[in-house]
Amino acid sequence: MSKLNLQTFFRPEILALSAYHVADAQGFIKLDAMENPYSWSNEFKQKWLVRLKDCPLNRYPDPEARELVTMLKALNQLPDNIDLLLGNGSDEIIQLLLMALPPNSAILSTTPSFVMYKQISDYLGLNYHGVSLQSDFNLDLPSMLAAIEQHNPMIIFLAYPNNPTGNLFDVNAVNQIIEAANGLVIIDEAYEPFADSSFMNRVGNNVLVMRTVSKLGLAGLRLGYIAGKHEIIEQLHKIRLPYNINVLTQSSVKFAFENKDIFDSQTAAIRHERALMFAALNSINGIVAYESAANFILFKTPENQATRIFESIKAQGVLIKNVHPQGALLKDCLRVTVGTPNENHAFLQALKYACE
Ligand SMILES: *Cc1c(COP(=O)(O)O)cnc(C)c1O
Repeated sequence: MSKLNLQTFFRPEILALSAYHVADAQGFIKLDAMENPYSWSNEFKQKWLVRLKDCPLNRYPDPEARELVTMLKALNQLPDNIDLLLGNGSDEIIQLLLMALPPNSAILSTTPSFVMYKQISDYLGLNYHGVSLQSDFNLDLPSMLAAIEQHNPMIIFLAYPNNPTGNLFDVNAVNQIIEAANGLVIIDEAYEPFADSSFMNRVGNNVLVMRTVSKLGLAGLRLGYIAGKHEIIEQLHKIRLPYNINVLTQSSVKFAFENKDIFDSQTAAIRHERALMFAALNSINGIVAYESAANFILFKTPENQATRIFESIKAQGVLIKNVHPQGALLKDCLRVTVGTPNENHAFLQALKYACE
């Protein structure tokens, strides 16, 4: 074999990409990734293990995950003309949506927003456009409408609540974007358990709503789902790998939702802690926390201190997320996931020390 030139082997958009970096969290209090901090009681784990014992690991899983789909449709009270597609995390669903588009399609979202929309668009060679939010992190509706007019995006992603800002966009503005769009509008409700607002009852026509069990407390299982009208979901099923949801995930998520009250009480505890954390952050000199409808809080640090404060908190054993390098509206900002009362206390102590 003659020498393989990797610089011409891979597509230029892949060579140009920097790898999605996940920090090594070993040994840290982990408040960087919007995970639910609570584990299950031993009694509950025993019940789960009994269920897993009968999982046929020698067989391929149900390719349609029918029992799980039926359960999720009922939980979300979806009508018969609305179908679900499951993904190995909602990340996979974002990838599937983007893979289905014609070459050179335009994609639209906000800046800032969830980084995967741009990351995947870029490596698939699509034309991603991010429209800056207003300084209060609300949608800049005139600029969004102008971008729709100019680029005619095939897909518009709106994270509701938005990551990493934590806010819910104005419903009227979202509705006007839906009205103006010629393509699909994906409402990404990854943080729906922590918010009091949803577009699930708007699913149909060009509106799809995406959710995940990750932030609810099952990030390790990798399950996301998207609801949309039958004619759209049908096409996406064709490019989904046949067994994308493994048997342990199918069984475990079913088990978890049969015991949904456990997650509801964990979610309530996180929401309670979020309010305490928000007040505590704003009481620290120089810190401004932004209101959040998610399980994390974005906060601003004194000018040009974000990375130093992030590193100081890290040196004190607490890992959060430094979003300052993303620049623009995120300049000087850090993002912390709401953890247990003890974890939050440790974080606040570390932050206070870093700000002294
Ligand atoms: C975390 C997150 C996701 C990805 O969730 P997975 O199901 O774990 O892949 C999608 N969208 C937003 C806005 C997120 O914050």
